Amino acid sequence: MSEKILDGVLEKFAKLAAIPRPSGHEEQVSNFLKNFFEEHGFEVVQDDSKNIIAEIPASIGKENAPLTILQAHMDMVCVAAEGYEYNPTRDPIKLIRGEKFLEAEGTSLGADDGIGIAEILYLVENREKFSHGRLRIIFTVNEEQGMVGAMNLDEKFLAAADFLINCDSERFGELVVGCAGTVHATLWRELHYVRPDTKLPYSLEIKIGGLRGGHSGEEIASGRINAIKIAAQIMRQITLRGKIRLATFSGGKAFNVIPDSAEFTFATDLKAPVVEKICAELESRLKKIYSTELNLKIEVKIVSRPDKVLHVKDYDALSNFITLIHSGVYLLSPEDPTQVIASANLGVVRIDGDIIELKILPRGNDDALIDEFIEGFDQAARLCAFERKFSPPTPAWIFNPDSKLLELAEEIFTEQNGYAPAIKTTHTGLETSFFAKKNPALEIISIGTTNENIHSPNERLHLDTVAPHVKFIAGMLEKISAIES
Ligand SMILES: [Zn+2]
Repeated sequence: MSEKILDGVLEKFAKLAAIPRPSGHEEQVSNFLKNFFEEHGFEVVQDDSKNIIAEIPASIGKENAPLTILQAHMDMVCVAAEGYEYNPTRDPIKLIRGEKFLEAEGTSLGADDGIGIAEILYLVENREKFSHGRLRIIFTVNEEQGMVGAMNLDEKFLAAADFLINCDSERFGELVVGCAGTVHATLWRELHYVRPDTKLPYSLEIKIGGLRGGHSGEEIASGRINAIKIAAQIMRQITLRGKIRLATFSGGKAFNVIPDSAEFTFATDLKAPVVEKICAELESRLKKIYSTELNLKIEVKIVSRPDKVLHVKDYDALSNFITLIHSGVYLLSPEDPTQVIASANLGVVRIDGDIIELKILPRGNDDALIDEFIEGFDQAARLCAFERKFSPPTPAWIFNPDSKLLELAEEIFTEQNGYAPAIKTTHTGLETSFFAKKNPALEIISIGTTNENIHSPNERLHLDTVAPHVKFIAGMLEKISAIES
């Protein structure tokens, strides 16, 4: 039975893998999915964003049961191993099926979230094997680059529904029941340059590297140091003993990546060995605190004299601002201190001509926590004369402990698998935030197969979680079909 389910789902997955589907290029896969539902005789809508919405009628006699949405996203993060020839908009994913895992040759696999799509297609084709109420299938585009499909989905497609099962979580055995909201905060200041003072005869470069970095939602609580924060610490230490006039400064890669490196150059009245000592002391102090960051390396190099350096007012404003900005874990759940519910990541600092720009991504598992961050950044920006822009917030999906759907899910999971699922809120983002916002009465859970190393060429799917996940969804639908609404 399980073997048959697995083969059936993988057959669907192979069809998806053959269609290139990086985020923002979903037309082909969207058309494929539209055809699937049309060929099976179902009503299907392809909206302007290329989201697919299909209606599956209830089993006979179950027409009054609650309307349930099954949902997954059709795009994938396309990355290849170094040296592997791969064009994400043209090349299919080559699958390697092993005994325990499904992997891709040289690239990411796209089980995130193709396996969710494949399972739902399989369930639709096998719908006569279990009873179910009315079903709506929603396949969204572009989850991976800003949840564009979910954001643009017309709320009428969520309005009449009672329950939604999202298939975009990465660990079977976990029921995800809440997620974080975010805001992209961009802060900048115009800079003024002067010639470096002749009383500052030394010119140095400091490079901070060897840090682990990582995803700012998933890894924020695993002892990663922010390279930009270290840079600001060094600047302050230098200021305590001498003078520093900054010439260049850069660090970090993106809003949602913890900066693993930063570098800056400056003119100073301190000789290189004095600055080296400051850096060495800080390095060893940090390594004592963070056993997780033993590869941290702070290097000092003598460089040629810069033509221009930041005016002292700009330097003060900048170093004060970075010191004031919180980066890292901010709040743990009072009910479950293993879960982070608020954090911020100072992700990027960059001097570009006459402008210095900072990018910060706060996350909060409640919208009020995001507001608190915005307020704090706004005040700090005011104090240090920085301009600021906040993107429209992605809402948090807030845990509903009274959810009937959750109660059913716990019961069915335990019955089928012989152990209770872990109930989790995640500190990353999920499309469910938008669905909850568009229909606050909608009860939602998220559960997926176990997918390892997603968004990397080492992504792999645990094959033994596919059939249990399919059976779980079918079990849920069967149970829901018994409810008279
Ligand atoms: Zn995903």
